[in-house]
Formats: sequence, structure tokens, C-alpha cells
Amino acid sequence: MVSGSLRWGLLLWCLPLVAWAEDAALRVTALPSAPALSAGHAVAQPVGGQGDRVSRLWLHAPHGRTVWYALRLADDWHQASQPLLAIRGNTRARVTVYLPPDYRPRSETVFDATLDPSFSHHAVVYRLPYDLRADQPIYLALGSPGQTQPIRVGITDTASYRVGDLRHVRASIFFASVQWSMVLVILCFWVVLRDRMFLYFIVYVGAQVVYDMAVSGELYALPGAGLLTPLGYHTGQCMALVAAGFSIWFILEFADLRRYTPRLAAWLGVLRWPFLALAAIIWLPFLRPDAWLPNTVNALLMLSTLVALVSSWLAWRRGNRQAGFFLLSWVPLLALTMARVVQLFAGLPLPTWLEYGFPGSMAYAAVIITVGLADRTLQARHERDQATRMAQFDPLTGVLNRRAIVDRLRNAWQATPPAPLAVLFLDIDHFKQINDSRGHSAGDACLAAVVEAIRAELGASDRLGRYGGEEFLVMLRGDSARTALRVAERIIARAAALRVPIGERPVALTVSIGVASREAAIDSADVLVECADAAQYRAKAEGRNRVVVWRREAFVLTPAGTGAH
Ligand code: GH3
Ligand code: MG
Ligand code: MG
Repeated sequence: MVSGSLRWGLLLWCLPLVAWAEDAALRVTALPSAPALSAGHAVAQPVGGQGDRVSRLWLHAPHGRTVWYALRLADDWHQASQPLLAIRGNTRARVTVYLPPDYRPRSETVFDATLDPSFSHHAVVYRLPYDLRADQPIYLALGSPGQTQPIRVGITDTASYRVGDLRHVRASIFFASVQWSMVLVILCFWVVLRDRMFLYFIVYVGAQVVYDMAVSGELYALPGAGLLTPLGYHTGQCMALVAAGFSIWFILEFADLRRYTPRLAAWLGVLRWPFLALAAIIWLPFLRPDAWLPNTVNALLMLSTLVALVSSWLAWRRGNRQAGFFLLSWVPLLALTMARVVQLFAGLPLPTWLEYGFPGSMAYAAVIITVGLADRTLQARHERDQATRMAQFDPLTGVLNRRAIVDRLRNAWQATPPAPLAVLFLDIDHFKQINDSRGHSAGDACLAAVVEAIRAELGASDRLGRYGGEEFLVMLRGDSARTALRVAERIIARAAALRVPIGERPVALTVSIGVASREAAIDSADVLVECADAAQYRAKAEGRNRVVVWRREAFVLTPAGTGAH
């Protein structure tokens, strides 16, 4: 467990960025103490023995003490381009060097804005004399704070170093750009939609890419980055903690974990606070965070990642699409973590695909989650459409509800120029009896059957709505009273012919309809409905199963069931 968390720490905190340019063979000797200084400069002094011959030099920087080394070329330098001393992967430790020919002490890290501007901040690079000889030592001290991850030191030629350096810059800028683009897109979403979740994404991915740029060194090549120099590696550390904290905030909202997995979500909710507290504690040196903070963070990261994954998995299984997007976005990151653990355990060199795999997988995750956010917006639109539908339609019969049909009628009434308009007010006869004798569900089936019968007689521009329990309102656009009457009569006949199949005895029924059409005496859509209702009452009074047309002077009656005047 402890060793696992250590690997995580190496992985997430001290990600070494090493380009595999071919280095010259060296001879290395560990020195018992610092070389003597004369007038502020070191004096080149004989180094005892030949030293170990190495082609790749990895040095460890222990915490709390300084270790010295002398390096020499195995053979005199005779390549066409100038030799460089490249110190790579010193993400924490400060390295001091005494270089020929003057042996003036110099001490820099990738965080310094004073590095040679003709190289990226991928490594600390010093130019060495063209005629560097095998007997000219280079002194090198690794000091506090130490770092768990080894530092690679090598002498390489300028031309091949530049090739690797350019490749590094291209890859770093590409991955950072992808992540910044996603942040920018979501920022635009947030400006318009003001959804808190977008803000969490912006802080999470924004902090992550700053961390990434701090680790790759590119952050310190930006204008004004000199201000960050005194903060050293704490900038990256702080950003990683902020990213971890806000990623929890984000996933809780994004995958709606509080609803789908309330208990795990509560755990996750608690876990985000230590990250933010630690992001502040970094800046309090009297608490000596360098000594204990990385391992604490590793343990927290492992725990929160585990809870987030299990919780998202469950949420996904329970039908949450966003949790699926989250899982999909994290799979490459986790796969790379595995590969890194294997590489560290086996002591293999860090391959380029693994070095750049991390920023790559972070960029990938940002893209997938942005797609997930777009998908969420789409889902919200579906839900809104569904809510609009539910607000307008009657769930039992599927026709418009009272408010919706009345709204449509009022709109049609106000159309200019005024067009002919008629309404039918339909009520099922003795419906209570059907309910009482055959049951409520039989009543419901009759309602659906009557709706079908009405629909069969309507044109494309006509509208049907459920006005009340077993009362329906039909709006006939462009129809005169005469045409409306004919439609009503056909509906009466259709309803009377219905045999609603319920149990062994089908149910027969009839309906009564009141008809009213636009005319001078009617001055609003609401009055039109009242007139049709009055005519419907009259139809009931006249014996049901008939149509009555409303007229100002008198009702026009039709005989039962015949549909004739
Ligand atoms: P009338 O011929 O005079 O219209 O007689 P009626 O029995 O149809 O009259 P009334 O309006 O009193 O009865 C309507 C009944 O419709 C009462 C109510 O229980 C029933 N009802 C209302 N909504 C529903 C529904 O959604 N499903 C069912 N099954 N019955 C309903
Ligand atoms: Mg009624
Ligand atoms: Mg009725």
C-alpha cells in the first residue's frame, strides 16, 4: 500500500520529462565533500581514480543533505557542435554546478526565469567549452529539497539536443492548447448558461493544465513567469491539489452522483476538502509540508480516485450517461498509471510515449468530458421538450389539455384577418353509469375510444382537447356552422357505432355535441366555448345522442342519432 502510493507520488508529482537525446559517455565519481573554492571560484582539482564509466547518468537527491559528484567525459570532445550539460527532471531539487573553464558556482532550477533563453525549460542547460577535455571535471551538487525521482544528467551535443527540445515544445504546447481550448469553450458556455458545474470544470481543467505546464517547464518560459520563480515547485503542487479538489466537485455535479450513489457521493464530498486545505498548507513552511505532504496527497488521491471510479461505475450502471463519459475519459489516464507503475517497479527507462502520455491523456479527458457536457445540454433540452409536452397534453388520452386547447382557440380567434372558426363541445352520455357498472378502467378505455372516433373525423388544421372529465373541445379552423354541424354528426354516428371491447360484453355509448361558430354576436373565444357548451346542454336536455347548433335567436336541433336537421 505504502509502496503503491509512493509510485503514485512519483507518477503524479515528479513526472520526469526526459528526452532521449544520445549523451556522451561519462566517468562519475562521488565526492566526499564540496570542492575547494578560491576567490569565489572552484579550483579544478584531481579526482581520485578513474570513476565509473556510464552512458546514462541518473542521480538521486536525498532529502535534507547535499551530495557532490565530479563528472568527466570518457573521451575528449571532438564533435562539430558545442557540448551542453543538460540536467533533466529536477522538478524539486536545486542543482549547483561548477563548470569549466572558470568554475564559477551556478545554481538554477527549471523554475528560474534566468535560464538560457535559447532552450526550453524542459531541462537546465549549460553550454560547455568546444574543446572540453576528458581531464576537465564538472562538479555537481544536488541539494535540498531532495526528490524521490532520480535526476538525469548528461553531456550532449547542441544539435541533437535542439531536435529533442523542439519536439518537447511542440508536444507540450499541443496538449496544453487542447486543454486551454476546452476551458475556453466551457467558459463561453458558463458566460451564457451560468451553470456552476461549468465553473468547476474550468477550475479543474485550468489548474490541471497549469500543473502540466509547470512540470513540463513551459510555464516558466511565459512572460512574467519570473514572478513564479520564488514559489518553486510549490506552484505545480498547489495546482495539482486544486485540480484534484475541483475534479471531485465537478464529477459530483456532472454525473449527478448525489442522486445515483448518495452514500459514496457523501464520502467523495468529504474527500475534496483535504485537497483544498493541503493546497493552502503548502505555503506554510513552519508545518514542514515537504516532509509529509506528498505521501499524504498520494494516499488521498488513491482513495478519492477509487471512490470516484466505483461511484461513477454504479451511476453508469444505474443509467447515468454522464458517468459513462467520465469513465471513458479516465480509462487512458489509469492505463498509463499502470504502465508507469510497471516501468518504475521494473526499473525501465521512461519511454517518450509514457512521458507525453500523461498530458496527452489529460487533454483527451478534457475533450471527452466536454463532449459529455454537450451531451448533458442535449439531455436537458430533451427534458425541457418533454416537460413542455407534459404541460400541454392530457396523459390519459394524448390530446391537448384544457389550457392548451383554449390557448390555441384564443390565438386562432385573434388571427388577422379573422377567419371562420367553429367549436364542438362534446360530452359522453351517461358516462357515470359506464364507470359505475363496468369499472373506472372501462371508463378510461371508452375515453380513449371516443378520442379515436373524434380524431377520425378531423382534418390537419383541426385541434382536439380534453376540456374536463369526459368533455372534449374540438376547434375547426376555416369551417362554417354548416360544415361544423356535418363533422359533429359524423362524430355522433361514429361514437354510436363504437363497441369498446371490455371483458366479454363490449361497451356501447353515445355522445352529445354542441356546435358554435364565429359570428357577430360572439365577441371572444371564451364566449364561443360558452355558446357551444350551452348548445351541448341543450342536446342533453333534448334526449342526448344528438347535435345542437347554437344560434343567437334559437338553438337548431338535430334528431337523435340521425344527424339530420
Ligand atoms: P350526462 O349524460 O348527463 O353527461 O351523464 P354523465 O354520467 O356523463 O354525467 P357527469 O358529468 O355527471 O359524469 C361524468 C363522470 O365522468 C363523473 C366522473 O366520475 C367521470 N370521470 C371524469 N374523469 C374521468 C376519467 O378520467 N376516467 C373515468 N373513467 N371517469 C371519469
Ligand atoms: Mg360531463
Ligand atoms: Mg356526460
